[in-house]
Amino acid sequence: MARVCVLGAGAAGLCSARHLLVEPSVERVDILEQASQLGGTWVYTETVGYDDFGLPIHTSMYKSLRTNLPKEIMGFPDFPVPESEKSYLPAKDMLAFLQLYADKHGVTPHIKFNHHVQLVIPKAGPSGELWDVTFKNLVTGESETREYDYVFVCNGHYNTPFIPSIPGLKEFQGEVMHSHDYRVPEIFTGKTVLVVGAGPSGMDIALEITSVTAKVILSHHLKEQPKTVFPENLEQKPDVVKLEGRTAYFQDGTQEEVDVFFLCTGYQYNFPFLHQSCGIVVEDNCVEPLYKHLVNIYHPSMCFIGVPYYVCAFSMFDLQVRYYVRSMNGAFSLPTQQQMEEHWEHEKQERAARGYTKRQAHMMGPDQERYYASLATEAGTETLPSVLTKIREESTIRFFHNLTSYRQDIYKIIDDNTYEVISNGKRE
Ligand code: FAD
Repeated sequence: MARVCVLGAGAAGLCSARHLLVEPSVERVDILEQASQLGGTWVYTETVGYDDFGLPIHTSMYKSLRTNLPKEIMGFPDFPVPESEKSYLPAKDMLAFLQLYADKHGVTPHIKFNHHVQLVIPKAGPSGELWDVTFKNLVTGESETREYDYVFVCNGHYNTPFIPSIPGLKEFQGEVMHSHDYRVPEIFTGKTVLVVGAGPSGMDIALEITSVTAKVILSHHLKEQPKTVFPENLEQKPDVVKLEGRTAYFQDGTQEEVDVFFLCTGYQYNFPFLHQSCGIVVEDNCVEPLYKHLVNIYHPSMCFIGVPYYVCAFSMFDLQVRYYVRSMNGAFSLPTQQQMEEHWEHEKQERAARGYTKRQAHMMGPDQERYYASLATEAGTETLPSVLTKIREESTIRFFHNLTSYRQDIYKIIDDNTYEVISNGKRE
């Protein structure tokens, strides 16, 4: 009978616990969560920097955020987001949804809140490898080490800012900020803000702050220009090549005086609690060696839920968990270490041949359906319906080209392959 440690009570940790708690081969599930509530990313707090216990604030949620994907593809396969009029929901609704999910599946009582995992280390056991997990009760200040047969790493990857190296950034004489610390637009009132990066947060926040700023410059290297009609005080520019004083110099030879250099440059994977002997290395945002972006190849009793991005996140978590739990209970056997290594090396080469950089090691996007099918086929479990990826693609295109109004669209799933979208009152 297995004892399992689930590290984190965000969507990935909750989903892991939901399946582990009904698994007959599992004796005990401890969910260790450093925060005082569940939900991870979806918890909004005005506080930035550090919390009351001196830990870095985890959430990157800003006040006005509404999902960038419709709720129809944001639920779990066995637990959809409840029906409501709108498709794009405020963060608080997603948080309430996760609370409901945890309560309905009896997960909540198993969460140890205010428990910060400090160290995870493998050790030899009498009949195979075991894990020592050291965690601190933040309220009492006491640390404890507990032994487990399996560790599910579910600590999220939208909390450690990625700061690109830009000549002159350290000496920049204006304000420098990362979107991790963004909460409300008012802090930029009357300022000229250079937003670097046009991912979902960069685009969304750039548009939001135009209501209060003197000017917003959105710097990016998108291959295709968004067709969105931005307000007049937003100008798009190519990449920044250097900063001097308060001046930003751009790749097209132009320059601008700016007050704030606002990095919307994404996040990095970070596992500060993993002892070196876990064998996991993060370099240029590539976490390795992982089999199918999920299983620690050197220590297969450790898995990572939620590493791939540009996916249907909660549904993918569910599939990854089902896959891994089936490997635990013997429904199928994981390949040998050598086979898993070969698979990962082959995948890296194949991605490189298609032009993916190392930094994009876990990017799915157009690969997601293939990824889902490969997990499901190997484990003999159900894959995710194609309609999810179809809606994801459609919604991403609409986000990109119609940022100001795409969140008014309403999606309806017809069956596993088809959907309809109602935009501006018209069925499309
Ligand atoms: P998290 O939600 O980050 O949860 C990780 C948990 O682990 C946290 O509760 C944290 O406190 C805990 N933890 C971390 N370290 C420790 C430790 N050492 N000890 C104990 N506990 C620890 N996805 C979508 O699908 N649609 C969207 O619209 C969308 N919008 C987003 C908007 C923003 C601003 C951001 C940042 C992300 C967004 N995402 C969106 C991605 C979102 O993060 C994922 O969908 C998902 O919620 C991630 O869940 P998770 O459980 O992997 O991580």
